[in-house]
Parts: sequence; structure tokens; C-alpha cells
Amino acid sequence: MTATQTMSSTSARTFRILAADKLASEGLDYIKAQPDAELVNKPGLSEDELAKIAGEHDGMIVRSGVQVTAKILANPGRLKAVARAGVGVDNIDVEAATAKGILVMNSAEASTISTAEHAFTLLMALARQVGPAYKTMCEGKWDRSKFMGRQLHGLTLGVVGFGRIGRTVAERALAFGMKVVAYDPIYNAPTALDGQVRMSKEFTAILPECDALTFHVPLTEQTRGMLGTDTFKVCKKGVMVVNASRGGVVDEKALLEAVNAGQCGGAALDVYDEEPPAADSPLRNHPKILTTPHLGASTVEAQKAVSVSAAEQLIEFLRGQGVRGAINAGGLRVDLDPIQSAFVDLSRRMATLITPMLEKGLGSVAIELTGKPLFPAAGTIERTVLIGLLQSHLDTPLNIVNVAHVAKERGIGLRTITIEEDKLAGEQLAITVESGDTTRRIVGRVYRDMRPRIVEINGYHMDMVPAGAMALVQNEDRPGMIGLIGSEFGTAGVNIADMAISRRDIDGRVTALMVLKCDTELPQALTNRLTARPGILKVATVKLPEE
Ligand code: NAD
Repeated sequence: MTATQTMSSTSARTFRILAADKLASEGLDYIKAQPDAELVNKPGLSEDELAKIAGEHDGMIVRSGVQVTAKILANPGRLKAVARAGVGVDNIDVEAATAKGILVMNSAEASTISTAEHAFTLLMALARQVGPAYKTMCEGKWDRSKFMGRQLHGLTLGVVGFGRIGRTVAERALAFGMKVVAYDPIYNAPTALDGQVRMSKEFTAILPECDALTFHVPLTEQTRGMLGTDTFKVCKKGVMVVNASRGGVVDEKALLEAVNAGQCGGAALDVYDEEPPAADSPLRNHPKILTTPHLGASTVEAQKAVSVSAAEQLIEFLRGQGVRGAINAGGLRVDLDPIQSAFVDLSRRMATLITPMLEKGLGSVAIELTGKPLFPAAGTIERTVLIGLLQSHLDTPLNIVNVAHVAKERGIGLRTITIEEDKLAGEQLAITVESGDTTRRIVGRVYRDMRPRIVEINGYHMDMVPAGAMALVQNEDRPGMIGLIGSEFGTAGVNIADMAISRRDIDGRVTALMVLKCDTELPQALTNRLTARPGILKVATVKLPEE
């Protein structure tokens, strides 16, 4: 090979990587060390400047300092991927990237150990009152009798959220001789970490036995305020609380009340409803509340790890060696015919719709596919069902690349039964999910108009297009219920666009299920009012994509 040939083939393989944010030097060094990569280190550019040059690069790495807007991605040129060194991708317009076929990836795992160590540091400091004791030393005092602590060995720690960080905290707590119980609705095994951690399917069930609670959950509708006035009442008196997950998971007002009343023995917070909290926030300077300014991932090691990990992932992808940490499924092609595509879409809607009915967590999942034309799409439908069932519990956006791994990690069993075509009925999809001691089932079809339909939910038959803001109201089957529900919606200013009613008789007790499609999302106050009305047994709401 001649010198000229070598040069030209090398330049053809060179990936230009734009570091658009200030990155730890290890990540930059990693890129520089790659023979097939060229680093363009330009932190601090304006949106216009970035929009002008983004397309001249194969990949871009950012932290949280740059907004990767639709404008920047509008003319992608040779840009194939954006990697976030860190977890949150709020600063990247993922939808715009997906539309342009650009892969977005994060490096969530790289900060797990640092965040878990910080949560454990907070727990230890809380148990020994390190914060207030240090303060008195700074004031020139020597108050030995004031700071009686707790020994962690032998205490019971409740880990709420048993994902990456929760598990890592649990390992550390076990090493300290603590008993560990954990709650995670999508962890489907009675124990974890070789039987050392007892898993609970109910949050409130672990509260009376825990001397300390530590939260490692995303902020979702279910987790917002999960430790609040009511749940504090169930806790052991004097419980210690650590929150290094997301502000809002522990209700701040309820926490202050519980701490002041002695129901909570002390709290340590790294995250807040509003960040930073107001300078005069009662959470600051409270003798029983230890606070840090969102430091979970702020270690030299984590910053180095996220930066190297983002660089590695990006280059691996550009070289065609694989995809890690994918946020969108950019570049992934799924060849499906129109009926299969319609069922894939339906499957996600069905799984999302059934999720609020799984009050006792997520157990094993069974999928029945009726109709031969659907069989080639079975794998895609399985993954899409899992996305629908799991997404509301997780921060990380799930996609058909990463969802199987996430489900496996949590021990969620899935089996698919394929049934040869039923000549009369045509194709049909049924999803059955175990939730504690109950089973939930939803059945859907796509007719010739190619619109998705729900034809059965838990034995109630109907014909409803699942789309937009929806409410499921189960009630006793007696006169006046439709009027009552309708007037509550009217009073709340929520217009009902479509409605299906079905009833069923279980052992002589007749109940009805109303499935309502609304023009706007249901305010929580309406759900609360409905739930409080006599005769209404259950209310669940869900937001599905429009048709
Ligand atoms: P993860 O996705 O690996 O785990 C989250 C777990 O929470 C999942 O297993 C999920 O099933 C569970 N969960 C969801 N809803 C729940 C509920 N209602 N009750 C109980 N469990 C529930 O995420 P991770 O990497 O372990 O991160 C956990 C949290 O820590 C996230 O909110 C993340 O944003 C936060 N975080 C904070 C810092 C910091 O600086 N303080 C740093 C990194 C991550």
C-alpha cells in the first residue's frame, strides 16, 4: 500500500467528535488517543454557532451546559449521534434528534457508585449527627452529651427503588451489618442480592419495620410525595430519611412536620422540589435536617467516568461496534407491514392503559397473539408491551433496544403464545399481567379501518379507540352512576369525547366499567372527588398518544 493510499483510507475512517461542553480531560484524552477519531473541543458556543458547525461532525458530546435544540439538529449533515456525559437528557431535544435519525445516548451507569456512596454518607452522618455536631465545634463549643447517635449495625434499612443506585446502597448497608428490606413495584422476586434483601410488593408494608429509609426512584406520578403525611404516620417513630434521588419524592412540607413532631428522627437531603431551594427555606439550617447541594454524582471519579463512558459509547457506535445507553432507537429499522405496525402501536397503548390497574406491582406477563400475520412481529410486540408496562416507573427512556435487558434485570417473566388464525375474529392481541394476587387482562384488535381498538378489559367488553387522555372508572352497577360521573366531569370542566360502558357479574355482584376518552387530562382533584363518591370503586387515568 502506498503512503497516499494509507492517508486517504485513514482520513475516510476518521470520526470528527465535537465536545460542545466542558468535559473531564480523561474523556477528551480518550478521544485523542483513538487512531480513527479527531477531537474538536469547543465548549461554550452559542446556539447559532453550534447550529452552523454541528453537521460537520459525526458525533457530539455534551454535559448539561448546552441545549441541543431542534435548530442545532435541523441540518444534521454527517451528525449521527449525540452523547450525554451524565444521566438527564432534558437539555437534548430527543424528539428532534429521533426525527433526524440521530442516536441520543447517556452514560447513566457511570455515576451509580458515587451517588450510592453519597446516600450512604448521608445516612451515616445522620445517624451520628455529624452536621450539627460539627456546627457546634465551629462555634467553639464542646457539646458531647447533646449528640447521642444510632449505630447502623442491626438497624433495618428500607431501600425504596431497587434499580442501579438502590441495589448499590443495599450492598453497602449489608456490609455494615444492617438488615435490608426493599420496595420496587417492578422487581419480581421475593428476595434480592442472594437472599439477603427481602423485597416487598407494597411500600407501606415495609414502613413500620424500618429504622431508616433511603429513596432511589425516579420522579413519576406514583413516586411524587410517596413519603408524605399519610405514609409518615405508618413509619416507625424516629425513622431516619435519606433522599438523594429526586426532589418531590419526599414531600417537603410533610417532612418538616414529621421532623418537628418527632415522628421523623432526622432527614438528609441531596435533592429538592426546587433547586436551589430558597435561601430562607426552612429545610436549611434545621437542626434535624442535613442538606447537600445535589452532590450525588459530584466526584472526580464519576465525572471522569461519565466523560470516558460517553466518549467510548459514541466511538463504539460510530465504528458500528454496538449501541450502549441508547435513549431513542435512532438508526434501528423495523420492517413491518401495515397490520403488524398497527398492532405494535396498539400493543404499547394497551400496556400503558393496563399499567395503572397494576396496584400490586408488576409480575409475569403473558402475551397471546392470534393470527398468523402477526407472528413475524412477535418480538417487536413483546418489547413494545414491556416498554408500555415499565416506562412510567423509570427515568431512562426505554426503547426496543434496551427494554428486554431492563425487564430481565428485574426478573420480569414474559411468555408469548401464538394462536393460528381465528377465521371469524381476525387478528387479536391479549396481554395478561400478574399483579400480586390479582390478574389483569386487556384485549385489543385492529379492524379494516386500521384503527386500534380495545375490546376487553378484565372481562368487561367494549369497543374503544385508545388515544389521548383516558379514564377508567369502575363502579357499582346501579341507576344514577352515569349521571353522577358525568356531572363530576362537567363540574371539573373536563369534556368527555367518547365513552364505553360495560358490566359484568362476578358471583352475583354486578359492577360496571366506564372507559372515558377526554379532551383534556384529568386533574388530580377530579380523580380524588370521584374516588370519594359512594358506589365508585376505582378510578385510573392514563395519557396515551393521540391517534
Ligand atoms: P434506575 O432506573 O436504575 O432505578 C430506579 C428504580 O426505581 C427502578 O428499579 C424502578 O422500578 C423503581 N421505581 C419506579 N417507581 C417506583 C415506585 N413507585 N416505588 C418504588 N420503586 C420505584 O435508576 P438509578 O440510576 O438507580 O437512579 C435512581 C434515582 O437517582 C433517579 O431518580 C436519578 O435521577 C437519581 N440520581 C440522583 C443523583 C444525585 O446527584 N443525587 C445522581 C444520579 C441519579
